[in-house]
Amino acid sequence: MYDLAIIGAGINGSSLAYEFIKKGQKVILFDMEGIASGGSGAAGAFISPKFSKSGELKELIDKAFIYSMQFYEQNFPSLFTKATLIHTSQDNEEKYTLESGMVNAEAMCNALCEGVTLKKQKVESLYFDDGFWTIDESYSAKNIVLAIGAYEQIIKEPYIQLRGIWGHRIDIKTSSENKNILHQFVSISPSRDGMLSIGATHNVHYHPETSKEAYDLEKGREELLEKASQMIDLEDVEVVKDYTGLRPGSNDYMPLVGSLVISKETLASKSIQFQRKNPDYAMYTYYPNLYMINGNAGYGFVLAPYLAKMLQEHILNAKSIDERLAPARFFARWARRL
Ligand SMILES: Cc1cc2nc3c(=O)[nH]c(=O)nc-3n(C[C@H](O)[C@H](O)[C@H](O)COP(=O)(O)OP(=O)(O)OC[C@H]3O[C@@H](n4cnc5c(N)ncnc54)[C@H](O)[C@@H]3O)c2cc1C
Repeated sequence: MYDLAIIGAGINGSSLAYEFIKKGQKVILFDMEGIASGGSGAAGAFISPKFSKSGELKELIDKAFIYSMQFYEQNFPSLFTKATLIHTSQDNEEKYTLESGMVNAEAMCNALCEGVTLKKQKVESLYFDDGFWTIDESYSAKNIVLAIGAYEQIIKEPYIQLRGIWGHRIDIKTSSENKNILHQFVSISPSRDGMLSIGATHNVHYHPETSKEAYDLEKGREELLEKASQMIDLEDVEVVKDYTGLRPGSNDYMPLVGSLVISKETLASKSIQFQRKNPDYAMYTYYPNLYMINGNAGYGFVLAPYLAKMLQEHILNAKSIDERLAPARFFARWARRL
C-alpha cells in the first residue's frame, strides 16, 4: 500500500513526488511514456515572472517565481542556471532587467523523482473502496493525484476542460554569442558551448491527437529563427534538436489544484442553490482522497514547485488552498449554466 500514487511524471507530478518523499511518504509514480515525456520534456525551461498588467494570474506567477528561483538554486544548483533576463515589450516601448534563471527540464524532473517507485504504464482505471484507491486493479494507494497535463482525463467530469497549446523550441549551434536570457518575440538562452536554446511557438491550431496533417517542423523552425533574428544577429546557424509538446491551459488561465467534485452526486443535492453568485464549495461532494494539479500553461517550471508544496500541505496537514485555484470553480460555473 502506497501513501500516494501520482499519475503523470511531468514537472507537476515530479515536484509533488519530491515534496512527499521529503516527508517520508511512500510514493508510486505512473507515466505512460516515462519521466518528462510530455509537455515538460519540451520546455525551455525559463524561470521568469509574468510581464503584464496586474491581475490574479500575474500575482500568482510572480509569487511562484520568487519561490521557484530559491527552490531550484538551493536544492538543485547543478541543474539551475542563474542569468540576467532582459525583457523587451513587443513594441520596443518597455524594457525590464532582472535576475532570473532556467533549468534543465528533463534532468530536473528526473532528480525530483528520486526515491519514488516508477511504473511506465498508462493508467486506465481508478477504483475506490474501503478507504483506499486501486489503480489498474494492481496497485493500491491512500491518496491519488492526477498530474496528466493536456492528455485525456482519466476521471471524466464534464466541467474539467483543459486545452493543449502546442509549442516548438529548438537548440541551435551558432558562432553568435549571447550573454543573457532574452525575452521578446521568443525566449533566447545564454550561449553554452556554442549552443543557444530558442523557444517557443504558440500554435493553437495544431493538436497531435486531432489534427489531420502532421506538424510541419520546418515551418516551426523558420518561425523561431525569424523571430529570434529580430532580437539578435544569428550567424552560422545549425538546428541541432527540436522539442515539441503541449502546454496544458485552463479556460480562465489559472491552474487547477485540489479536490475534484463528483458532479452527479453534487447535482442531486437538494440543499445547494446552483444559481448562487458566491457558491459555497464546501457543500459539494468530492472524490475521496483524489486531487489534481494541472493547467500551468506556459509557466509549468515556475509554478510547479510552489503549487506542489501547497498541495502537499493540503493533503498532509489539511491546509486550505486558495479558492481561485480550486477545480470546483469550474463545476460551479458549469452547474450554473445547466
Ligand atoms: C515548447 C514548450 C516550451 C515551454 N517553455 C516553458 C518555459 O520556458 N518555462 C516554463 O515554466 N514552462 C514552459 N513550458 C510549459 C511547461 O512545459 C508546462 O506547463 C508543463 O510541462 C506542464 O507540466 P505537467 O506536469 O502538467 O504536464 P506534462 O509535462 O505534459 O506531464 C503529463 C504527463 O502525464 C502522462 N500521462 C498522461 N495521461 C496518463 C495516463 N493515463 N497514465 C500515465 N501517464 C499519463 C504523460 O505521459 C505526461 O508525461 C513550455 C512548454 C512547451 C510545450
